[in-house]
Order: sequence, then structure tokens, then C-alpha cells
Amino acid sequence: MTRANHSQRGQGRVSKRIAAIAESATLAVDAKAKALKAAGRPVIGFGAGEPDFPTPGYIVDAAVNAAKVVANHRYTPTPGLPELREAIVRKTKRDSGYEITADQVLVTNGGKQSVYQSFAAILDPGDEVLLPAPYWTSYPECIKLAGGVPVEVFADESQEYLVTVDQLERALTPKTKVLLFCSPSNPTGSVYSPEEVKAIAEWADAKGLWIITDEIYEHLLYDGATAPSIPVVHPAIADRTIILNGVAKTYAMTGWRVGWMIGPKDVIKAATNHQSHLTSNVANVSQRAAIAALDGNLDAVKEMLSAFNRRRKLIVAMLNEIPGVQCPMPKGAFYVYPSIKGLLGKEIDGARPTSSAELAALILEKVEVAVVPGEAFGPSGYLRLSYATSDEDIVEGVTRIKNLLSKAK
Ligand code: GLU
Repeated sequence: MTRANHSQRGQGRVSKRIAAIAESATLAVDAKAKALKAAGRPVIGFGAGEPDFPTPGYIVDAAVNAAKVVANHRYTPTPGLPELREAIVRKTKRDSGYEITADQVLVTNGGKQSVYQSFAAILDPGDEVLLPAPYWTSYPECIKLAGGVPVEVFADESQEYLVTVDQLERALTPKTKVLLFCSPSNPTGSVYSPEEVKAIAEWADAKGLWIITDEIYEHLLYDGATAPSIPVVHPAIADRTIILNGVAKTYAMTGWRVGWMIGPKDVIKAATNHQSHLTSNVANVSQRAAIAALDGNLDAVKEMLSAFNRRRKLIVAMLNEIPGVQCPMPKGAFYVYPSIKGLLGKEIDGARPTSSAELAALILEKVEVAVVPGEAFGPSGYLRLSYATSDEDIVEGVTRIKNLLSKAK
């Protein structure tokens, strides 16, 4: 092949579509912290949102038993084991009061795959997605991979990071097809009130939009907050709603990779066709573990929740003691999202960070604490810290951050 021929076969070795995708910042920070730790550094990680508890024993036992059953060594139906889809039907009724049938459920490789497949199932090239910001780092990349255009709608700390219907209305165009909704929110921990959820659902319905609603943090709620499910609050939009969920956060099962999407039958069928060419079924041993989790009670999450609640108060109080840091008290999930705008441009230990990305890099370099910069989730000026880690690490890690940032001048 001549050089000329070769160059006609594409401009670069990596496709433009994939080259445009940034690495997941949450996973990158987590990997960096874990690698430094493995190399013997005393790193404290507030990076990835991953419960520090083990998966409850009865779930692990179900997996061990499943591994011995030959049927679980084989392919099973793409959309999931029938028993798991039925367990998801029962769980959705129990936890959300939402009645569905098993053919409205597609089991995916973690909640993340359901994010991508949902957008892929309903977006055509150029369709716009209203994306309340700060947003989870993978949403815009999944939207772009699916050919869509993310349209950020930013709410800052003065509005508890919660967007209003007015803001959404201003971002609406004839190309808008979907609203992404996530409450409790990753990365801010903010929770919309039932009235706000209803107002947003009614507005989206009136505009003919779809809603993709991420309910992965549904059980992680504090101070009496609730997180009602969109199609329960406003049933009229159920036929244009896709719910995303999974076992990762509720049962400390991040590594098992079991998530699901719930939606109208035609969309679930289309997404299942897509998945049949991507990944086929999720690992059966993990699916069997998920059945045990969903058919069991919620005692384990209640136990984790009381630890998370204690850590939430601890980390917010400690962060707010640092001059230049302003940390709202979140009502859900296990993240805090302090503004550090008061520190940007100041001299800190010989450096002068002008963005949260630079500040996060400085914190890792100087005091070996891993946090995720706001740029991963929208505008600069913020840090995300996961408090799904031990109380000791919170005290030690935030003390180190305080010692460093107190030098700002
Ligand atoms: N969802 C968690 C986070 O935001 C886990 C890492 C990831 O998949 O992004 O940290």
C-alpha cells in the first residue's frame, strides 16, 4: 500500500468519536490513588464513590453457590436472568411504588452501561440533552458517544446545586429531546424535594421531552429527605421515562457490575438488541448475587447509612473550618461538593492554582490526598470528596488538606 492510499484510510489511528472522549476522571483519580498506595505512599483517597464496606455475606454466599452450578457457566438471555428481572420488578414496587413488568427491564453491566445504552436507544445525531450541572462525569461522554449534544444547565452552591424549571426552560430548543435527572445527585449530594421533582416532571411532559432518571443513590438519604421516582410522581410521563439503577451503592457491590434500565417495552427491546451485540448477558454469578441482594432486606444499607451520616457531618464541619472553602450540607449520596473559589489565585506553598484541577493536583502532590476537581463535573471552582471511606481517613485527609490550604495568602 502506498503512503497516499494509507492516508485515505482515515486521518488518525484512533477514531475522532473515541478520541473526543475524556478518561473518566473519577476512575482516573481512584486509579492514581490506589497505585500510589500500592507503591507505599500514605495516600488518602476521596476519589471514586465506592462504599468501603464489604458486600453482605448472604449475597457473597449466593454467588459462591451460583459459581458451582453449571447453568451459570453458560450464556443466558441477553436482558438478564428471568429471576433477576422479576426481582427487579418486585424491588421497584417495594422501594418506589412503581409497577412494571419484567419485559420493561434490561440488566446491564453496572449502572454505567445502562447510562450509555439509554442514550444510544433514544438519541439521533444532533438531539440535545438537558444536563443539569454539576453532573456525573460519564453523562456527557455517554451522550456524545450516542451522537447527542449535552446542554449544560448549571446551578451553583447558592441554589444548592439544584436547577429550576426556569433554567431548564431557558435551555430548551427545538432540538431538545431528553432531560437527564439525578437525585440524590452525584457529584453534589443534593436532593430535589418532591415538589421540585413534580414540577420538573410536569414541565418535561408538557414539552414532550423524555426523562432519563438515575436512581442509583435512592437509598442514601439523610435528614428525612425523600427521592420519589419520576413516573410515580407524574405517571403521564412514564411512557417517555427510563430509570437507571443498580446494586452497587445500596449493597456495596461496585465490583460485581450489575445495573439495569427500566423503560417502555419498545425502548427496552431496542436496547436489548443493542446489548446483544455488545456484551450479551451480565455475568451469571453476579446476577445471582444481585437476586439475593434484591430479595433480601435493606438492613445492610441502613447500617452503612448511619456510618455515612456520621461521616457526612464530620467532613462538612471539617471542610467548613478551612478559610476559602464553602461546603453545603448534602442530603443524599456520599459526596460533598465544596466550593473552593475563595482559594483560587492565592499563593499556596509556592504554587498559585487558578483552577480546581490545579488545586486538586497540588493537594495530591503536597499532602497526598486524592480529590476529584470540579472540571470533571462542570465548571471549575469545586472539589468532590467521597465520604464512603473510614472516619479515620476523613479526619487525617481533611486535616492534611486544611494544613496545606491554611497556608494560602
Ligand atoms: N460512580 C462512582 C463515582 O462517581 C464510581 C466511579 C465511576 O464510575 O465514576 O465516583
